[in-house]
Amino acid sequence: EKLDKGLEKSKDSLLSKIGKAVVGKSTVDDDVLDELEEILITSDVGVDTTLKVIRRIEERVARDKYMGTDELDVILREEVAGLLAENQTEQLSDFEIPGGVKKPYVILVVGVNGVGKTTTIGKLSAQFKNKGYKVLLGAADTFRAAAVDQIKLWGERTGVPVVAHGMNTDPSAVAFDAAKKAAEEGYDIVMIDTAGRLHNKVNLMNELTKIKRVIQKFIPEAPHDVMLVLDGSTGQNAVMQAREFTKATQVSSLAITKLDGTAKGGVVIGISDEFKIPVRYIGVGEQIEDLQIFNKDEFVDSLFK
Ligand code: GDP
Repeated sequence: EKLDKGLEKSKDSLLSKIGKAVVGKSTVDDDVLDELEEILITSDVGVDTTLKVIRRIEERVARDKYMGTDELDVILREEVAGLLAENQTEQLSDFEIPGGVKKPYVILVVGVNGVGKTTTIGKLSAQFKNKGYKVLLGAADTFRAAAVDQIKLWGERTGVPVVAHGMNTDPSAVAFDAAKKAAEEGYDIVMIDTAGRLHNKVNLMNELTKIKRVIQKFIPEAPHDVMLVLDGSTGQNAVMQAREFTKATQVSSLAITKLDGTAKGGVVIGISDEFKIPVRYIGVGEQIEDLQIFNKDEFVDSLFK
């Protein structure tokens, strides 16, 4: 519901814009397709993905020889759902980690400051804990004092222990202690917050490599997941961050935040199409329950309802 409400703005920019674009036109012609292209691009679907969608609709028009404008929203919905289905093959049913993994399961969380990384970690720790997992947090974003304090606050709030040193200490020392504690004390899940200094890619790469190396001393198959957090309300900035992070490290999942109250919901479609990394969670508000498992069908529904 919150997603629906949040995406109402995106809905405005999709459905109502489409409605406006086709007023007085009965068939989907080149003009209508041009307008649709512009609508998708301004909804932050991204140029490449937009062109792909337009091409597919053109092919359908050519094949069927005719397409009424009254069908356009249905056709567009089908194409968007198809794109998501191609690229999002994973569907979580709950806040769970994969079965059969030797624990502790390690999630390294990366992302630029301000995107909602700490909040996402806090919400996730609560959700995992509710599922009965024994959860540990590592505050390895030592670059920003507030990050450590915030993680500690979440830990207090959710009753999840936090391994933290101080500000400006070595992030990999935090990761070391967290991995050691998790391995020795039988934790199920460890989430490690990292600093998102994207402007210095070499540093970022080195730091992540070092963090991985120290964790592997205790948990050889870790990290099981490198989760990139992106702020969906920043549209193409989020796309650029995804490009940079995927160059710096192997990203295995995405959390896209702040999809409440944004007209930029289309960004999820573009990101999914460009990176083909599973969007695992979406953030639709500041409360714990506002972190939701990404469900591609529900997402498309809320875009086109
Ligand atoms: P970090 O710097 O990446 O760790 O970002 P924070 O976790 O501190 O989040 C930055 C701000 O975004 C905070 O005020 C959060 O409450 C807010 N925030 C995080 N996720 C969401 C979300 O899904 N929706 C909304 N509306 N706000 C969010």
